[in-house]
Amino acid sequence: MLELDHVTVTYGDHPAVVDFSLSLEQGRIGCLLGPSGCGKTTVLRAIAGFERPARGAIRLGGEIVSDTGFVLPPERRRVGMVFQDLALFPHLRVWENIAFGLEGKSRGARRRRVEELLTLMGLPGVGEHYPHQLSGGQQQRVAIARALAPRPMLLMLDEPFSSLDPELREQLPKELRDIFREDGVTVLLVTHDQQEAFGMADEIGVVRAGCLEQWAAAYSLYHRPETRFVADFVGEGVMIPGRVVDEHEVETEIGSLKGTLPANCTPGTRVDILLRPDDVVHDDASPMKARIVDRTFRGAQFLYTLALESGRHILCLATSHHDHPPGELMGIRPELDHLVVFPEQTGSAAVG
Ligand code: ATP
Repeated sequence: MLELDHVTVTYGDHPAVVDFSLSLEQGRIGCLLGPSGCGKTTVLRAIAGFERPARGAIRLGGEIVSDTGFVLPPERRRVGMVFQDLALFPHLRVWENIAFGLEGKSRGARRRRVEELLTLMGLPGVGEHYPHQLSGGQQQRVAIARALAPRPMLLMLDEPFSSLDPELREQLPKELRDIFREDGVTVLLVTHDQQEAFGMADEIGVVRAGCLEQWAAAYSLYHRPETRFVADFVGEGVMIPGRVVDEHEVETEIGSLKGTLPANCTPGTRVDILLRPDDVVHDDASPMKARIVDRTFRGAQFLYTLALESGRHILCLATSHHDHPPGELMGIRPELDHLVVFPEQTGSAAVG
């Protein structure tokens, strides 16, 4: 449904998006995740037709909408876009807001489509209200209904939940995901909040300084990050140094870790291994001990920060039935089912 092929967008001399390639199938939900200013919004604007790429091609539904020497104007691209500020028309009722993009359709057809969308988005009975009479979550749904009204091929959402309170921010993405999936809507979302991305998206692209570092499902980003930046940006963890013993083993301060290593890891190579909090298991019976430096209560679990003998800090996620105070020694055991290995970087520190 959407394909970006080596797209570069520049503002003057400044490259905001560099050699960006991705594809999104019909009915899938994709998300661009990255820090502020990394170029996420620029990608959406290029897809919508508000920016003209300096290089590369964009296809929507198999048709080229942007290529060297050819740019289809935004109004002919069949994409719907919802911005952070929603931009609902305050003087129009909800149904009029939703019907706004349906000009040219008969009165009856517009009414039917609005009713359909109010039902789809879980907004029955608010058609006659004005936006200010609705909650933040309801306004968000109206903005999305308005963008969906003309049946776009692609719906794009730019930081759509950032103004909502924390509870809604957690709940609304999941509800919308179910609505979009049921209705087969193809969505590209932009956020800097990984929980939002995890809650909604089938595929997530981590963006850094205009470049797409990795495009994958959340599970792969967390467990198989391809770059240090992705390892750092997605989830929590630390890097610990190690020395390659053979193609299946690395010796580290917390013992020998086993897994398949990249081909360039010859014996003796110094590497850094990504250690997630769930890779370190609390085990009172283990002879390996680490001192508790800090802990954060997370309801079902504690996230412990532990100091190894060398002073290096690691993280350990343990069930909150085990309540150990800071200062105490705790038994731990590494339990990694695969190794995420990067070339050694001196001064490896905590990530996430
Ligand atoms: P945020 O999450 O803060 O919205 P973003 O990841 O969406 O950030 P963009 O808004 O795409 O990032 O901006 C990418 C880069 O391009 C930034 O360095 C920004 O300052 C620059 N930029 C964005 N719009 C323009 C513009 N119209 N003219 C010049 N530079 C721009």
